[in-house]
Amino acid sequence: MTSPEWLESWSADDGAARVRTLFREVFGSDADLDGVWSAPGRVNLIGEHTDYNAGLALPVALPHRTYVALRGRPDDVVRLSSAQAPGETWETRLADVAPGDTKGWGAYVAGVAWALRAAGHDVGGFDAVVDSCVPFGAGLSSSAALECAVAVALDAVHGLGLAADDAGRADLAAACVRAENEIAGAPTGGMDQAASLRCSAGHALLLDCRPGLSALESADAVPFDLAGAGLTLLVVDTRAEHALVDGQYAARRASCERAADTLGVGSLREISPGDLEEALTRLAAADDGEVLRRRVRHVVTEIARTEDFAALVRDGRVDEVGPLMNASHVSLRDDYEVSARELDLVVDTALAAGALGARMTGGGFGGSAIALVRADQVDAVAAAVHEAFAAAGLTAPGFLLAPPSSPAH
Ligand code: ADP
Ligand code: MG
Repeated sequence: MTSPEWLESWSADDGAARVRTLFREVFGSDADLDGVWSAPGRVNLIGEHTDYNAGLALPVALPHRTYVALRGRPDDVVRLSSAQAPGETWETRLADVAPGDTKGWGAYVAGVAWALRAAGHDVGGFDAVVDSCVPFGAGLSSSAALECAVAVALDAVHGLGLAADDAGRADLAAACVRAENEIAGAPTGGMDQAASLRCSAGHALLLDCRPGLSALESADAVPFDLAGAGLTLLVVDTRAEHALVDGQYAARRASCERAADTLGVGSLREISPGDLEEALTRLAAADDGEVLRRRVRHVVTEIARTEDFAALVRDGRVDEVGPLMNASHVSLRDDYEVSARELDLVVDTALAAGALGARMTGGGFGGSAIALVRADQVDAVAAAVHEAFAAAGLTAPGFLLAPPSSPAH
């Protein structure tokens, strides 16, 4: 029997040493390097598929980070290399970066410079290398970690001063969202970038995604003292690959927009739990089967669960959030239909092995699940999940520990 594979995070020194070494290999010398920056991946505790419905989410920053070593250039050329794309140098001129025209992983990087320029900041070209211990495509936001590490690097190199306070960080997050949506072409909401730039160690970030809120109104740091409660957040990267993910995500967004239009509201956030039954009745005529109504029920109940979760945590009742996590999973599985066999298997197995709560996290169709586990049961829960995957003939999952960690810096 093999044992669970733990995906360890790197120390700051180790991460910095890796990108310095890579920079020397790619660009010959690190003598005029401007510095090294890093940004975390994130895991969402609850509040899934709510960000594009002007709802609430509650992410924490992972200890797993993407590191960037960067040197500004006097021209507008961008040259990039990543340890995760070995042997390849990605190059462009910033003047050539435009929606639809920028291909490959460098779009996530050059897109940030493009978006900062579009916001009126004087940002030039650069040479940069990247290395990361955030798992790729696992729903833990390696894409935002990359964007946000670049954003704080460009902020420092060009003296923008945005990373110095939360309002400025909200501006950097907005630039990263534009990079991902418009240049990389991934239609995601704003949670990932806000988490990577605005979370703080020991805290979860209660994110209010209503448009037009000030930075202060849009995010609130909620003390999340897992260790003090004797608990551990276990993340399981299922390594499940599913086709059609992009189309499914867009389809969910489209359903939510159609439902909001039919109900005559700007977003589903405006439907309170008390008004849900009436809203569902009004949707019946526009509904083909029950799909629209199930999607709306997920969004409205998920936003309420996120509020309840944050309230329990604020009250120091972290050990009582398990049932909310479980209900979130059932809602995502049955009403929103974004779970997958592997995610359900993690949840069912973790709960049977003693987890207080478990759910899929991130967009779904694969990716990762989380379990809230008493610290002395982590190894037993991980072993049970590992064995269940082996017994089902599935690829072995990866396991991460997720103490709430620090933001991009
Ligand atoms: P997730 O954000 O859940 O990890 P995404 O599909 O949103 O998954 O983002 C993954 C993509 O981001 C990769 O396919 C790659 O294009 C880019 N990316 C993220 N991190 C890196 C990295 N360290 N080096 C190169 N590309 C990266
Ligand atoms: Mg992503």
